[in-house]
Amino acid sequence: MRISVIGTGYVGLVSGVCFAQMGNSVVCVDIDAKKIEELKQGIIPIYEPGLEEMTLENYKNKTLNFTTDATRAIRESKIIFIAVGTPMGEDGSADLKYVLAVAKTIGESIEDYTVIVDKSTVPVGTAEKVRATIQEQLDIRGVDIEFDVVSNPEFLKEGAAIKDFLHPDRVVIGADNEKAMNIMRELYAPFMKHHDRFIAMDIKSAEMTKYAANAMLATKISFINEMSQICERVGADINKVRNGIGSDSRIGYSFIYPGCGYGGSCFPKDVQALAKTAKDFGYSPRILDAVEAVNLDQKYVISNKVIAKHGEDLSTKTFGVWGLSFKPETDDMREASSITIINELTSRGAKVVAYDPKARYEAESFYLKGNDNVSYVDAKYDALKNADALILVTEWQEFRSPDFQKMKELLKEAVFFDGRNQFSKAKMQEYGFEYIQIGVN
Ligand code: NAD
Repeated sequence: MRISVIGTGYVGLVSGVCFAQMGNSVVCVDIDAKKIEELKQGIIPIYEPGLEEMTLENYKNKTLNFTTDATRAIRESKIIFIAVGTPMGEDGSADLKYVLAVAKTIGESIEDYTVIVDKSTVPVGTAEKVRATIQEQLDIRGVDIEFDVVSNPEFLKEGAAIKDFLHPDRVVIGADNEKAMNIMRELYAPFMKHHDRFIAMDIKSAEMTKYAANAMLATKISFINEMSQICERVGADINKVRNGIGSDSRIGYSFIYPGCGYGGSCFPKDVQALAKTAKDFGYSPRILDAVEAVNLDQKYVISNKVIAKHGEDLSTKTFGVWGLSFKPETDDMREASSITIINELTSRGAKVVAYDPKARYEAESFYLKGNDNVSYVDAKYDALKNADALILVTEWQEFRSPDFQKMKELLKEAVFFDGRNQFSKAKMQEYGFEYIQIGVN
């Protein structure tokens, strides 16, 4: 099938590459001319395991192409995916300006029956707005062209995006007629050879499914973080409590890791967008509001522990930081807890020496740009040299089994703040560290 994917970010690029991998003819479109030019030269704008190899292979095979010419790409495609960003607007709602701009271009350009797929995370009712925007343009052109708008929310996880896309837990499609649904079924058939994971539903339910999924996952994280706060106060150990509750199959172990708060481009904005939608429809979403509030506080837990130990004035202190990205296996720093933690420390005069396997460029160029108290190193142990403590923020695999002896020798003091509870307190004390975790006294 001939497909256009409009918006070549984390979701658009991964989707385009994976559809190409299945033998479709795919054009990835973006308004960012530099990004498109670089992609044509084989420079991949983001880090995602497996993405570079698969992009280069499909571009070479000509199953995948890149362009800024949306009109041409749209005219040549039977299916058009909208995969542009839906950032948070000022009032917490999802800002649909990019989605509707693409819809307008589609309305200005289509010539034959086309299926338009909302892949961006968009509030309930957006497919209707996309349909109306396209129809308005067709009316202006004075043409009568059949088209369908379907919802196909994306559930991939950054850091495992290719794997998730090629082997999805489920593919949710919301459509209001069989013709469009069958085209989507055919497109996704190669991704579910072993068993059917295609879940068909109405458009509004599909749009809502994405928000409900992210809200549930964020709720699990804020729940365990709230438990960790209670544990600290009553003298319990959240790691043991986690083990105790996760063993219940109704609860399960996944997504109940205590930590220094969730970040990323999805949970924070999607929880708030859903809360805003609820309020717009006259419902007060108490759980969603609490999930967000707990998470905001949780981002300060580590810096507060540092201040509790070292005092408010940190002007003579240096801290090594391991991990900057919002989670491992990605260079994405959107809403990363590292930003809050580092800014809290440096605003009190501290120096920070940061190491991340992939996110250094993002941090240096955008998210911590202009913060002169932060310097960067390219090897994890270099962040420890003469530091007053180590702070682990992102649980990259290379931090799982470090050389504790070497760490002790490099640090000025063997103090370790662990924002992801990676180690056993008893073991760390045996190694001679003052080991400060979340949810453990
Ligand atoms: P992103 O910011 O990485 O990429 C968006 C891209 O769209 C950018 O390259 C931008 O230049 C391009 N763009 C904007 N306007 C355009 C236009 N008019 N024409 C062509 N290109 C245009 O965003 P992302 O992380 O890929 O997220 C995209 C959507 O998918 C969002 O709604 C997000 O919530 C959702 N989503 C993201 C993830 C994730 O893990 N990142 C997972 C599931 C769903």
